[in-house]
Amino acid sequence: MRALIYKSTGSWYTAKGEDGQVYNARVRGAFKVEGLTSTNPIAVGDEVELTPEDEADHVATITEIHDRRNYIARTSPHNKNKHHIVASNVDQTLLFATLKEPRTSQGFLDRFLVSAEAYHVPAVVIFNKCDLFKKKEEELYAELEAMYKAIGYGVLRISLKTGEGVEKLRTQLSNKTSLVSGHSGVGKSTFINTLFPDMELRTQEVSGWSGKGLHTTTFAEMFDLPFNGKIIDTPGIREFGLVDISRQELSHYFPEMRALLNNCQFNNCLHINEPGCAVKTAVESGEIAESRFLSYYSILESIDDKNY
Ligand code: GDP
Ligand code: ZN
Repeated sequence: MRALIYKSTGSWYTAKGEDGQVYNARVRGAFKVEGLTSTNPIAVGDEVELTPEDEADHVATITEIHDRRNYIARTSPHNKNKHHIVASNVDQTLLFATLKEPRTSQGFLDRFLVSAEAYHVPAVVIFNKCDLFKKKEEELYAELEAMYKAIGYGVLRISLKTGEGVEKLRTQLSNKTSLVSGHSGVGKSTFINTLFPDMELRTQEVSGWSGKGLHTTTFAEMFDLPFNGKIIDTPGIREFGLVDISRQELSHYFPEMRALLNNCQFNNCLHINEPGCAVKTAVESGEIAESRFLSYYSILESIDDKNY
């Protein structure tokens, strides 16, 4: 029976079968997935084949994994040379950001967008807490919105406090599987609780006297929305990391640069100081935002190329 993985907690998976039943599923025996170097063979969002073992307990064995349309990975926390697949078959990533309390840096946004490009997953940037916007934030928002929309990203402004823009966001979620991400403090939990008012989805453990949140081990989990659509929550994972991106490839993941790459004089141009560089020319003319170029340059500097 075909089934969809909703949650993974190490060796057990929560899977929903096409019969609508939720199963506790596991992989038994040798189970090889061709060409995979990840630490987890199965991820949230995977479509699998299940064989029920015990009807009464709804225990089942996963016998096969279907091809993934896409996946999002990060460097494994246990082994730097391996990947951990965070989620698969994702239609879009929602990147929650704020301009105040706290301010999400553009560097963080751009890094995230590069990862989304590399995984071929469309990204929507959601600026929350717009109730806090004063003149300065309004101007900054207008600038960022124009800049990101011009290069093809969805941008929304919302306030989970006042409800502004929330209806638009719901529309953006319908009939899709969306992965929720962003720094802590930007409103992700508030957002998820708004969608599921009756459910205490994420139990934040607080250690007694210090009041500080414990660093609990967290797992990605998928939820059916009350309307048609699914969201994947990845508590504790704020950044996916730039898995396997080489310096040479990086500009391909900036949509506004990608279009110009054939115009650079050298086909291995890194757009730093090379003569006849179309990207640099576009930055100088203002066609490419300088702030985006600075993000490009900073990511480029951070890529250790000795493996390529
Ligand atoms: P998370 O770490 O991304 O899950 O963020 P939380 O959902 O825990 O939110 C962090 C803080 O921001 C909480 O105190 C929320 O009440 C607050 N918050 C969330 N959305 C808004 C909003 O739209 N406006 C304002 N002013 N505060 C918000
Ligand atoms: Zn160039």
